[in-house]
Amino acid sequence: MDPAPSAVSAAPCPDCGSEVAVPGDTTLGEVVECPECGVPLEVVAFTPLTLAPFDEEEK
Ligand SMILES: [Zn+2]
Repeated sequence: MDPAPSAVSAAPCPDCGSEVAVPGDTTLGEVVECPECGVPLEVVAFTPLTLAPFDEEEK
């Protein structure tokens, strides 16, 4: 088993305000899910870590 990653960051969910953990190997544009409200959040910046609501473009 790998040790726990040391580069885990967290940013507040724009929807409910709870801290959402983002793994250190997350890439820009990756979508994570808020554990509190379940909303999909896109990583839009790393410095500082910023999460934005992910809009699924449906045709
Ligand atoms: Zn949330």
